[in-house]
Amino acid sequence: MSAQRARIGVLGGTFDPIHHGHLAAASEVCAALRLDQVLIVPTATQPFKRDSVTASPAHRVAMSVKAVRNDARFSVSTVDVDRGGVTYTIDTLRDLSAQYPDADLFFITGADSLARLAEWKDTDQLGELAQFVGVTRAGHSFPQLETTHRVVEVPSLAISSTDVRRRVRAGAPIRYLVPASVADYIATHELYLGGLDD
Ligand code: ATP
Ligand code: MG
Repeated sequence: MSAQRARIGVLGGTFDPIHHGHLAAASEVCAALRLDQVLIVPTATQPFKRDSVTASPAHRVAMSVKAVRNDARFSVSTVDVDRGGVTYTIDTLRDLSAQYPDADLFFITGADSLARLAEWKDTDQLGELAQFVGVTRAGHSFPQLETTHRVVEVPSLAISSTDVRRRVRAGAPIRYLVPASVADYIATHELYLGGLDD
């Protein structure tokens, strides 16, 4: 008897830094779709954000690892950072399918990113590699797209990495928006004190 195929969620993003909005979305999809695990996959260079990323891939991966450490369902994949260059979801999914040949992949994406799906590279082939799962996001309405496998309603947390970076620069608190270990890491490494978001 063949073993049941593993169900793996994939949450790609810049994670600059990872915050509780990301973790709540991953957790909700994990439960709703009965996933075995969710991979947090930080990008190398994001095609739509070439000018604004302010922390190195190594810092973004390190913060993501700290954020998921206490949750056995979550882990961090460096598949995009290791490949380097501009990250396209098609390459992420190709590499992960090769790495997990016996798994079904579920690519999780927020309403804001999904709205730009048509601009993604090789959009027509994405659906062959993974089922797409949209998650609701505070302040962003949901586009109706055929490729979306389903939409999962996530408790509305109006948190963004952009706002976290702005807060750090302004000396405003970020505790409870990001895990404590991430806030500590940002302080220790003096991240986001200068930058291009203004
Ligand atoms: P930035 O402000 O730098 O764009 P971000 O907060 O949007 O950062 P990303 O790394 O761009 O974070 O997002 C990764 C994925 O997580 C995207 O699919 C995004 O839509 C989703 N996401 C981010 N924040 C939330 C949130 N608060 N609720 C639901 N989904 C979210
Ligand atoms: Mg974003």
